[in-house]
Amino acid sequence: MKKIPYGRQNIDSTDIKAVEDVLQSEWLTQGPAVGQFEQAVLEFCGATYAIAFNSATSALHVACMAAGVGAGDLVWTVPNTFVASANCALYCGGMVDFVDIDAKTYNMDVAKLADKLADCRATNKQLPKVVIPVDFSGQPCPLAEIRKLADEYGFIVIEDASHAIGATYRESKIGDCAYADMTVFSFHPVKIVTSGEGGMITTNNAKLAEKAGLLRSHGITRTPGLMVGENHGDWYYQQIDLGFNYRMTDLQAILGYSQMKRIEAFLARRRQLAVQYDEKLSGLPLVTPYLTDDVNSAWHLYVVLLKNGAERKRIFDAMRALNIMVNVHYVPVYTQPYYEKLGFGAGLCPVAEDYYWRTMSIPMYYDLTDQEQDYVVGILKELLA
Ligand SMILES: *Cc1c(COP(=O)(O)O)cnc(C)c1O
Repeated sequence: MKKIPYGRQNIDSTDIKAVEDVLQSEWLTQGPAVGQFEQAVLEFCGATYAIAFNSATSALHVACMAAGVGAGDLVWTVPNTFVASANCALYCGGMVDFVDIDAKTYNMDVAKLADKLADCRATNKQLPKVVIPVDFSGQPCPLAEIRKLADEYGFIVIEDASHAIGATYRESKIGDCAYADMTVFSFHPVKIVTSGEGGMITTNNAKLAEKAGLLRSHGITRTPGLMVGENHGDWYYQQIDLGFNYRMTDLQAILGYSQMKRIEAFLARRRQLAVQYDEKLSGLPLVTPYLTDDVNSAWHLYVVLLKNGAERKRIFDAMRALNIMVNVHYVPVYTQPYYEKLGFGAGLCPVAEDYYWRTMSIPMYYDLTDQEQDYVVGILKELLA
């Protein structure tokens, strides 16, 4: 059997043609295609502003800066995520802390968030300036409850929706920022839609959008209204903040734009595969994904929970040996050696740790055929028998 990855991109001839056209155009770096891609994402999810970046990691960094995170400020996120969701706080000189996940959804446990906030208030401990919930595997987290706590405690919500473009929460489409102050998407090849590398912030807040746009490109502006003092002429620009070169190229943007035209097909196939997995795996001694009834997942990942760590390792190794490239999402961020050096250690978030030892992501991507899926399920059944 050929290699079956846990996830991969689909690039068709229209995507290739779009990139070729840009290669032959006047612009390679950030140009008109970036605007087209931003507009396509805005139209798809219904926010007011979109700012594209060269990665979601860059977007998360800038989102934290736009939210005002600086030396000594506190950012809370979940341990069950990619390290970038926490690193972005450290880039700003801030500190990070973690809220455990819910045992069923694997998303931030909002009751634990509420308790931790109440405890900080009661004991006069520092409250977070920003909370970064993650829509794990494509399932939106409990956004309304998080918003309510944000209003009560005065923190900014940066929703890491790297897994979740196309997901919905109640009446809201992820990225419309009905609950979050900023939402961040990733367009890494393994995600739902790809631009090779890329990320985006969406927001309805003009100030945050302006700041994010500035920081994306060195803190430089050509907008006379933003300048200090006199505008010397058409050549003139001013650096009014300390930003970065986090720009997306037009090559990447046009690929993302072309892929956005196909997003409904991508999402539909993922949904279908998820339904089929749910059916085919029912009755087996493993836990299939649980969705709350107010969400639709974008199905970036399909994760199953095995009985214990030994069982997970046995099945993981056996499937990899058969070229079924299962994976694990995620090692709790704070157990990474870098975070342990900062003083974190095992035991902080027991639910995320138990989850980590038992979880396995099985193949989930647009091109996965029914036959391949049946093969994966058949092997799992044999291994669990
Ligand atoms: C992929 C991912 C990121 C980082 O995305 P890049 O575009 O690779 O920088 C951040 N957070 C989560 C949850 C992710 O899955």
